[in-house]
Amino acid sequence: MTLEIVTLPCLSDNYAYLAHDPATGATAVVDVPEAAPVLAALRARGWTLSDVLLTHHHDDHVQGLAALLAEAPARVIGAAADAHRLPPLDLAVAEGDTVQVGRARGHVIEVPGHTLGHVAYHFPESGAVFTADSLMALGCGRVFEGTMAQMHASLCKLAALPPETRVFSGHEYTAANALFALTIDPENPRLAARLREIDLARAENRPTVPSTLEEELATNPFLRAHDPAIRARLDLGDAPEAEVFAEIRRRKDRF
Ligand code: ZN
Ligand code: FE
Repeated sequence: MTLEIVTLPCLSDNYAYLAHDPATGATAVVDVPEAAPVLAALRARGWTLSDVLLTHHHDDHVQGLAALLAEAPARVIGAAADAHRLPPLDLAVAEGDTVQVGRARGHVIEVPGHTLGHVAYHFPESGAVFTADSLMALGCGRVFEGTMAQMHASLCKLAALPPETRVFSGHEYTAANALFALTIDPENPRLAARLREIDLARAENRPTVPSTLEEELATNPFLRAHDPAIRARLDLGDAPEAEVFAEIRRRKDRF
């Protein structure tokens, strides 16, 4: 079952997504930075909300939930590991669990690092993964709670999904991420080409999401800790991949 996915810009740089199963009419929203854009998008399409998929507990991903549910009651799904600090959940999920949006089946992938309870939702038949603040277009979330090794392991799980998978991340940070990526991987021709596309998209106020995993594998420095040119540049020739990742993440924190 292929979901129809709508990208909803929220707040200053967040994204929520509607995921609609045309066969059953079921419609999920992934994260709720604010209620109004979600309600407007549902109304414009005549869709009825059935599910809310929360990725993590940060305010900019959940703060619109109460206002949304007041207008559009729905089943709320989120990580069991963070149930104590997420809004009240109807369904608490963990690694390997499945979530159902109409006939579309999604897999829960635990991706700790940005927060300990961060989850991603992968819908294989739709070729889509909702990653919020774990894997982002040309970037990854800041490691606030987990360890660098945890975040690296989380990104490795996402990197192993089929390369054609579309990556729906939580923020429009891509232009800034690209400037940083260039400092790590300046000779990468795919990165230079992507930078031009990003500039064009942003000049026209178009979202740079979703990207594809294939693009991320080719250009996102946080997925390229194995790359010999990057290792040489960082003077980390033989270091374990998690260590190279950690160095890239630390440089981004200072950038
Ligand atoms: Zn966050
Ligand atoms: Fe966020």
